[in-house]
This record gives sequence, structure tokens and C-alpha cells, in this order.
Amino acid sequence: MHAVKDLESNVCSYSRSLPAIFSRARGSIMVTEGGREFIDFLSGAGALNYGHNNHRIKAAITQYLASDAVVHGLDMTTPAKIEFMETFSSVILQERGLQYRFQFTGPTGADAVEAALKLSRKVTGRQNIISFTQGHHGMSLGATAARGNSFYRAASGVSLSGATVVPYDGYLGPAVDTANYLRKAILDKGSGIDPPAAVLVETVQVEGGINVARKEWLQSIQAIARDAGALLIVDDVQMGCGRTGEFFSFEFAALSPDIVIMSKSLSGYGLPLSMLLIKEELDAWRPGEHISTFGGNNLALVSATAAVNIHWRSRTFSQRVQRMAKLMRSRLETIASEHGNGFSVRGRGMALGFDCQVAGIAEATRLKAFDKGLIIEQCGSGDEVVKFLPALTIDVEALNKGLQIFEQSLTETLEYEESLA
Ligand SMILES: *Cc1c(COP(=O)(O)O)cnc(C)c1O
Repeated sequence: MHAVKDLESNVCSYSRSLPAIFSRARGSIMVTEGGREFIDFLSGAGALNYGHNNHRIKAAITQYLASDAVVHGLDMTTPAKIEFMETFSSVILQERGLQYRFQFTGPTGADAVEAALKLSRKVTGRQNIISFTQGHHGMSLGATAARGNSFYRAASGVSLSGATVVPYDGYLGPAVDTANYLRKAILDKGSGIDPPAAVLVETVQVEGGINVARKEWLQSIQAIARDAGALLIVDDVQMGCGRTGEFFSFEFAALSPDIVIMSKSLSGYGLPLSMLLIKEELDAWRPGEHISTFGGNNLALVSATAAVNIHWRSRTFSQRVQRMAKLMRSRLETIASEHGNGFSVRGRGMALGFDCQVAGIAEATRLKAFDKGLIIEQCGSGDEVVKFLPALTIDVEALNKGLQIFEQSLTETLEYEESLA
């Protein structure tokens, strides 16, 4: 019996694109059962910003486990939960002049998205959610309704409703400011768009192809939401926790979202933990209306507190991320310009995309890179973009080695293509 082919459902995805059995990992290196080492530029799709098995965070969890402290307690109060909320409030929120309440949802990003949509509908008494082309918010029905991608919409098996997908920044090319369209469409009674409960936005769309929204565009979206009496929800599931260089991805645009959705790297250790940050005046929930068996799991809260304490008490970590991001970007830009072919680089902070224009080139490069020991993935509606999401803690040596493998793989791919021409 073949364990993967015969036992696991056809639905699995990364096990196909990254065919190996991974048994151990530390920092930015994953090791297979046979002892082969891979540099990880995928980082659990952004769930491992602090690297695999970060030993400083691990120390906090091991100590917690050893002390027989409560690991699972539904949403009962525990010292671990109090410590997380107090630490996050003072180190992250107060430092940035923000004030939010915490809602620990079910452990997936998708469930946090569902909670945010429900709450905004409850608060406004409206149903419609404005979301954007190429967005990704998870696989549940509400989140899929807010998604543009036809592959995932079709997989739902029911008609999806309650959301209107409108063009993201840049969707209609650099000459069109899609915020102008949204303003007109939302405020004009002739547009056919129902008044929205919320506008749901990612500041950088990773799965959608590393599409970067401009600061001015995001500010317009916030103003439009306010004018329309809708809440602004920022989905910071993947771009939060330092990925763009600052803790929240919307800090650079000085946004003040009504709800912030956090997950992926929140626990700091790859443990499942999701939450909403809710403005106090919008906390309209009645007790129990959206709770979950595994919401706010204590082990994940302990690692999340450690991650905040270790990385965010000073500006040092953020500055390091910004330095590494510059390094990565300039190297990728050099590769793009040396090879021509219309290649380009985009992204923000340590979330970068190398647009190969053609899915075949992106795919062949990714496969060659995997053979040479680099884990890297594709994104974009046509899978034409190679995405770079190394751990924020990666050292310069591993970063350079990974980029070198990528360049070699791209060169070989292009040489092969030319030999066919
Ligand atoms: C991954 C992701 C989600 C969904 O999270 P899951 O844990 O996979 O349900 C939602 N929004 C964004 C931006 C994501 O990257």
C-alpha cells in the first residue's frame, strides 16, 4: 500500500508539489526522512514567520507542558490567556496607538474570517460584503463567496452569495484607480450593488499573485467604507506578524481597521491559533454566538506570548526584517533584469513575487529548485508567479543560498526553453 496514494485523500496539495517525506525542521531548514536538507522559502504559507521550531519559543511551550498547566479549557479563563491579551495589548497595540478587544475564533484563518463577516452583518444589519478580485480568505463557504477564483468557487457545490467581488488595486492596469469605481458603485443607487456590511481587504494578496495595494488606494478604500456605513476588515492572516516589516501590514498606510483578522504566524510556532481584533464599540456579540472547541488553545497562546516578547519588544526585529527584505528584493530584481523576458518583481517586506509571465516557466523553475534543495511555491490566478516567503528569522547565508538555487533553476529552465525554440 502506498501511504500517500492509497490512504490520504486526493484533496492534499503540497504533498504533490513537494514530493518528499519531511521529518525534521529547524529555522529555515527542513530535513527529509532520508536526511536531505531543503531551504524553506514557503514557511508554512506564512505560518512560520519565526522559523521552524524556534528554540526560544519552544522553551516556553515545553515549560508550560511540563508544569501540567491547562492546555485545553474551551474558552475558560486561564493565566495563559490573560498573559497573552495583556502582553499583546501593551507590546503590540498600545505601542501603535491601537485599542481592540480580542475574539479567539476556531483555530483556522477561515473561521476567523467567518466570524468577522458574521459580526459585521450583525452590527450593520446588512448582508453584502465587498471583497476583491484575486483575494483569498479561506475555504469555508462565507470566505469562498468573497473569493474571485473560479476553481474554489466551483468546489463549493452550492451557489455562493452575500459578497460582491470588485477590482483590487491594479486589476485594470496602472492607469485605472479602481477605488474610484468602488466609490461610485457603493454610493450610487444605480450600481446594482447592495449596501455593504463590510469591505474585506488584504493589503498584499499573496495567493492571488503577490498583488500589492498602494497606500493611497488602501486609504481610499477605508474612506469609502466609512462613507458607506460599512466596516473595514483587514485580513492580516498571512501578511501580519511582521511579514511586511512592521507587525501589522496596514501600519504603513496608517489605517484604522474596524476588525483585524489574524492567524497563520500568530502562535509563532505553527500551532493553530486565530483571532479577531474588534473595536470595542462594535463588539455586538451575544455570549456564545460564535465560539469554538479549540478557540484560544492555551498552548498556542503561550507560544504566541513568547513570540511577541522575544521579537516585538524593541524595533530591532522589524529593522532586521526590512534589511533582509531589501537584500532579497534587490537580488531578485537583478535576476529579473538580467534575464529580461518581461520578468518583474513585486511585493512588500519579505513577501515577494517573481512574475515569470508564463506558468510553465514558473513551474519548471520550481521543480528544478526542489531538485536542488529549495522549497518554493507558485501563486497567481495562472500560477505564473514564484513566491518568496522565507522565515523572517532566516540568516543571510541561507537566504543567499536559496536565491542562488532559484537563479540557477531559472537559468536552466530558460536554456532548455531556448534549446526547444
Ligand atoms: C491562509 C489564509 C486564510 C485562511 O486561513 P486557513 O487557516 O487556511 O483557513 C485567510 N486569509 C488569508 C489572507 C490567508 O492567507
